[in-house]
Amino acid sequence: MNRPRVVVVGAGFAGFETARTLSRLVRDKAEIVLLNPTDYFLYLPLLPQVAAGILEPRRVTVSLPGSLPKVRLVLGEADGVDLEARQVRYTGPEGDTGTLEYDRLVLAVGSVNKLLPVPGVAEHAHGFRGLPEALYLRDHITRQIELAAGCEDPREYDARRTFVVVGAGYTGTEVVAQGKLFTDALVRKQPGRQGRKEPRWLLLDIADRLLPELDRRLSTTADRVLRRRGVDVRTGTSVKEATPDGVLLDDGEFIETRTLVWCVGVRPDPLVSDVGLPVERGRLLVDPQLNVPGHPEIFACGDAAAVPDLTRPGEFTPMTAQHAGRQGKVAGRNVAASLGFGARHTYKHNDLGFVVDLGGVQAAANPLGVPLSGPLAGALTRGYHLAAMPGNRVRVAADWMLEAVLPRQAVQLGLVRSWSVPLDSEAPEQARVPGAPEKD
Ligand SMILES: Cc1cc2nc3c(=O)[nH]c(=O)nc-3n(C[C@H](O)[C@H](O)[C@H](O)COP(=O)(O)OP(=O)(O)OC[C@H]3O[C@@H](n4cnc5c(N)ncnc54)[C@H](O)[C@@H]3O)c2cc1C
Repeated sequence: MNRPRVVVVGAGFAGFETARTLSRLVRDKAEIVLLNPTDYFLYLPLLPQVAAGILEPRRVTVSLPGSLPKVRLVLGEADGVDLEARQVRYTGPEGDTGTLEYDRLVLAVGSVNKLLPVPGVAEHAHGFRGLPEALYLRDHITRQIELAAGCEDPREYDARRTFVVVGAGYTGTEVVAQGKLFTDALVRKQPGRQGRKEPRWLLLDIADRLLPELDRRLSTTADRVLRRRGVDVRTGTSVKEATPDGVLLDDGEFIETRTLVWCVGVRPDPLVSDVGLPVERGRLLVDPQLNVPGHPEIFACGDAAAVPDLTRPGEFTPMTAQHAGRQGKVAGRNVAASLGFGARHTYKHNDLGFVVDLGGVQAAANPLGVPLSGPLAGALTRGYHLAAMPGNRVRVAADWMLEAVLPRQAVQLGLVRSWSVPLDSEAPEQARVPGAPEKD
């Protein structure tokens, strides 16, 4: 007898947990196919540490074949879903195309960088949503500090040592926190630095506080730590225009810089809107059991799904790793239940708190609503990340230990170029390469 086939699209927090839970429950009674453009799960919350040269890039990845032995990995990117034929169309990494038939489908494609219609931003800014962008930023920062060192023109010198990050959510805040420590470490190694200004970092947000979506006490801690570190924090401020030489702020000030990092948020992966099912702000609408209404064979979870938040009636769960991973587990159980293994569950999750790594030993955290700061929060944050990673923990911990005793490695390999990580990308998990096969 043919085994039913479950196709899971996307192997991030939600898709990885779906596939892992499902494979434990159904064992070999169903075929589980995981479609993902890369052969790894990416632990996004530690990406700022990759950009700052603390963690090597492979540390924040976990091999899919290595950790999901009962799941068949198909490398590729879904291009569309044929709801009638129950097929997913995809393009593989070498331009080959294919289709996957499904009995059950789980859409867990996550999100991509959000663009705002600000002139010049798409051309001159970079996002922070994938490993290629983190690698690019690490090299770019190192290069700017090195180019500034050999620079005779004081204006160019200052511009190269000025870094502007827009968006003070957890991504932008962590990028600035780590970035400032990184550049300070780089200039400490340079000769003749006495009397020179420190590299300048600006963090801008249109909101009236850092971390606007989190507990106000976390914002206060982050604000204090960053300002003490010398970061120019500007709330209530946004960018009017970006040019090759810098950014024009909405208050009329022009900041000369060669670095604009765009962390204003994310939007659901556009694949979801193209499927032809009801969406809520680009997220696929599902019921509290993560099922698409009217399609008992289709489930969705994570950033790409609009999941009713039963702890806050009338709202949808926010786009966080905590929700995505937990929803993935519930999706796995409910898909298994739909195949006759176990019972269905409803998704309901109370916020357990948040951790924001502020670099060095500093962090802001509120586990179970208790606000923490300083080294205690720093230790808790690192412990949380180690516990939450599905693998590679020893290697991550080893990099942290090396970082504590050795100077930061200041080399740029230049493997990821500016043009290969455009801000406006539907696939931030992959760097563009010259001569790559075109998609239809
Ligand atoms: C820098 C950064 C730091 C963050 N820090 C935190 C934090 O500290 N705490 C927290 O709670 N949240 C954090 N987040 C948010 C969190 O990472 C996301 O909410 C979470 O990753 C969402 O999980 P997901 O499975 O929905 O999507 P993802 O984890 O993004 O996974 C989506 C997967 O789908 C794949 N995919 C995309 N399109 C296709 C396609 N067409 N076909 C096949 N596969 C596809 C992608 O390659 C990826 O593997 C952070 C995000 C970023 C960018």
